[in-house]
Amino acid sequence: MIERIEIFVTGLPVRVQRIFSSGSYDTGPAERLLSKPVLVKIYAQGVVGCAQIRPISPGHFVADTTHSVVAAIKEIYGPGLIGKSIFDIESINEMFDARLANNPAARAVLDIAVRDAVGKALNQPLYNLIGGCCQPRIPLEWSVSMADDVSTMVAEAKRAADEFGIRVLCLKMADRRGWRYDVKVFETVRRAVGDAVMIGVDPNTGWTMADALSAIGELKKMDLGYIEQPIARRDLKGLAEIRRAADGVPVMADEALFTIQDAYALAEARAVDAYCIKLYKIGGITPAKKIAGIAEAANIQLNCGGLAVQSQLEAAAGAHFYASTPASRMMGAAEFVFGLNATAKDPICPESDFVVRDGHVDVPHGPGLGINIDEAALKKHTLMYERVG
Ligand SMILES: [Mg+2]
Repeated sequence: MIERIEIFVTGLPVRVQRIFSSGSYDTGPAERLLSKPVLVKIYAQGVVGCAQIRPISPGHFVADTTHSVVAAIKEIYGPGLIGKSIFDIESINEMFDARLANNPAARAVLDIAVRDAVGKALNQPLYNLIGGCCQPRIPLEWSVSMADDVSTMVAEAKRAADEFGIRVLCLKMADRRGWRYDVKVFETVRRAVGDAVMIGVDPNTGWTMADALSAIGELKKMDLGYIEQPIARRDLKGLAEIRRAADGVPVMADEALFTIQDAYALAEARAVDAYCIKLYKIGGITPAKKIAGIAEAANIQLNCGGLAVQSQLEAAAGAHFYASTPASRMMGAAEFVFGLNATAKDPICPESDFVVRDGHVDVPHGPGLGINIDEAALKKHTLMYERVG
């Protein structure tokens, strides 16, 4: 039975700021609570399950904030978990729906922590509880931030390819200077990294239909890898139209996919070729696996998004989901490269071999998520602490 839940908001000594067409991604000043990750520990049945998610609003289409996640867990989901068995995953997710709708980041961190606890209780890695290890070695993708100057984007793309061996890049598009500028950026990066690297684009809903059709017409000539969420999230017919015009270049839903019901609607509309699964956006491993079922039935592929900035725990959750999915069902590569101590170390897991090697990472094989946090470092970096039970 779940006896106690601890909630920690932890500081990030290295600030990360990135820009995309619909907003920004900013971990904020070191001591500010807003935009900092939330770590939970679930004490149950002789084990402690851990997980961490960084709520990324403000400035992002997933609305959860650090404060909203802490409040949802402390006041609503947490008390509902006390006394439940960690094996009652479906009942726990049903409780989430009944007690407080939406709030996917708060649900995700709890769903993943419960699954970490189950893995530890059974002495099995998480992937063995959700389908086994189809892919022990996971290819990684690097999402390139927008910038005022194209040379900044080229430098970032080159660094990903040369320093980390990344073979899949995602360029943030829909620059305020118009779709022709986007095409120029793509062309410049393509020339810099060569033909061996897959390059996809993500306008984050920033293109009109006309922009999208014009830009894709040009980008197709330069080996465009995929098109992620070009237009408004609810325009499924528009996405289907773009998919037909893209003529074989896969179209991926990100902003359009939050729920199992969204996945079903996208499949029915034959709007996309791939779903971008971000655990913090859809509510954790449990809904991710259900969306994977809809995808399989509709012949739609999956992509694993979410930067997991400076969080080994958040990256590990993505890695176990990825590892448990056959390669033939995945498109692109996994985006959680910033959780693998790539540019800055996770302050609470500084020593780790869950790191990037030649553009790939090996899924951890220890029980649960397979990540050990440094308790002294956690204590040192805790900005806020709450407890339920
Ligand atoms: Mg996206």
